[in-house]
Amino acid sequence: MAHVFQVDRVKLLCSCGILKPITAIYFCRHCLKLRCGNCVSHEVDTMFCPNCLENMPSTEARLKKNRCANCFDCPSCGHSLSTRATSVQAPASDDSAKTVARKLYYLSCTGCRWTSRDVGLKDQTVASGAWGELDSPHYKQLQSLLEHFRGVAQREKLERERKRFSKRKTSYLSLTDKYNLSSVMGRKSLSLTAFSAKGDSSQLSEITPSVPSEDVEGLPEDIFTAPVDLSKIATMEQRLASPEWQPTKTADLYPLHKHILVKRSLRCRYCEHNLSKPEYNPSSIKFKIQLGAFYHVPEVRIVKQVQLFSGEEATVQISMCNPTPHDMTVALLPFVPEAYQEPPKKCEESTDSSCLVRVVEIPYENSNLSPTGDVALPQGQLTLAARDDTAEYDDQDSNSNYKDDPQVVAWRRANKVGVNLQVTPHPDASEVRIGFVLRYDYTNTVATASESRTITLNIPMVISAGTVTSKAEVSKSEEK
Ligand SMILES: [Zn+2]
Ligand SMILES: [Zn+2]
Ligand SMILES: [Zn+2]
Ligand SMILES: [Zn+2]
Repeated sequence: MAHVFQVDRVKLLCSCGILKPITAIYFCRHCLKLRCGNCVSHEVDTMFCPNCLENMPSTEARLKKNRCANCFDCPSCGHSLSTRATSVQAPASDDSAKTVARKLYYLSCTGCRWTSRDVGLKDQTVASGAWGELDSPHYKQLQSLLEHFRGVAQREKLERERKRFSKRKTSYLSLTDKYNLSSVMGRKSLSLTAFSAKGDSSQLSEITPSVPSEDVEGLPEDIFTAPVDLSKIATMEQRLASPEWQPTKTADLYPLHKHILVKRSLRCRYCEHNLSKPEYNPSSIKFKIQLGAFYHVPEVRIVKQVQLFSGEEATVQISMCNPTPHDMTVALLPFVPEAYQEPPKKCEESTDSSCLVRVVEIPYENSNLSPTGDVALPQGQLTLAARDDTAEYDDQDSNSNYKDDPQVVAWRRANKVGVNLQVTPHPDASEVRIGFVLRYDYTNTVATASESRTITLNIPMVISAGTVTSKAEVSKSEEK
């Protein structure tokens, strides 16, 4: 059986209909719904270089083509390049008879030992910032295309503004920034008197269309006879790492400016509250807000793998863990896949058009929810103790405080309990998938004193219990 990670075996059904493991899902405390990467809006918070950790505003990042000016990646293996210093004897500037030691710098890869000297780049006299840029051979054409599409975008924009003009006073600040228009066109559109016909095609810069050529250079004469030295030929990855030049030989590899990374914040698309917000500082790995489901939904795991036989009942033990500092009551309810094939009803408060909240409808996706095994769920409910970080140092057994039904609770340890499920694989199933709805009392810590703080939530879960072992396999292994 292929190894399946524990985290992929228990999946939660997001409010958008997608199954996700608990580590890839968020919990909106305001809508009280699960939200995954598919149903939150992603916003760029900070742009920074992962090597020097310098952050920069988005306009600067765009000018620098989203790359760091000072840091480089190895064009050979992609590892970060580091600056190395050597000293050479050079004639002194005032007296050429004397020599002085001068420091020179070059770039070197600690991963594959590629250096900037390998490709004949001259050592620099300053440690950073002196490495020249390669000019793209298509620079002019790209520039004229950009110019043209800026014009197109501007015209589209003006047309849209003209349509809106009767309704509203237009603000030049609202111009989109798609082609960096705000600085150039903002001023222009101000000077345009109420969008007269000036924004028309007359402003579009001409682009010369590319012409296909019939003549193609022939292959070099020795192409089939000269021995191939693969170490001198760049790999596909190396070529495509610099799309402008696409060096075919390793001798033409050139240091690559490091890509800028972003820190994202995630926002619930229904209520616009932040679900995840990192700290601004690029060197910090902390979050100001982090509403991972992991902190709000009991974590379910499969305790141990049992052999499953087609049509035979087996005991699959799961554990449930309470991540919150409040006791909670948990019950397992039957899962009806049909109930989740339709998008859930929208919340009522979202219909108010005057409110500032922008409600975005997310297409509901249907995951394959049909179970391939029957499950007998334990009846009744049980209490999950609150998380207590000191519990593992506690000698006293507090488990006797809970009057557990031994039919339901197999074991209990601090904020975890083990529960036995009776699973019967369907006759034709190979991969056994079961489902249930985890009902639990969630203590909402959002400060709304008027409302009741404890809410009952239902989280549909789909568990992959394992693969069915055929009887033939068992007898074979017994013979051995
Ligand atoms: Zn989702
Ligand atoms: Zn950098
Ligand atoms: Zn390298
Ligand atoms: Zn929300």
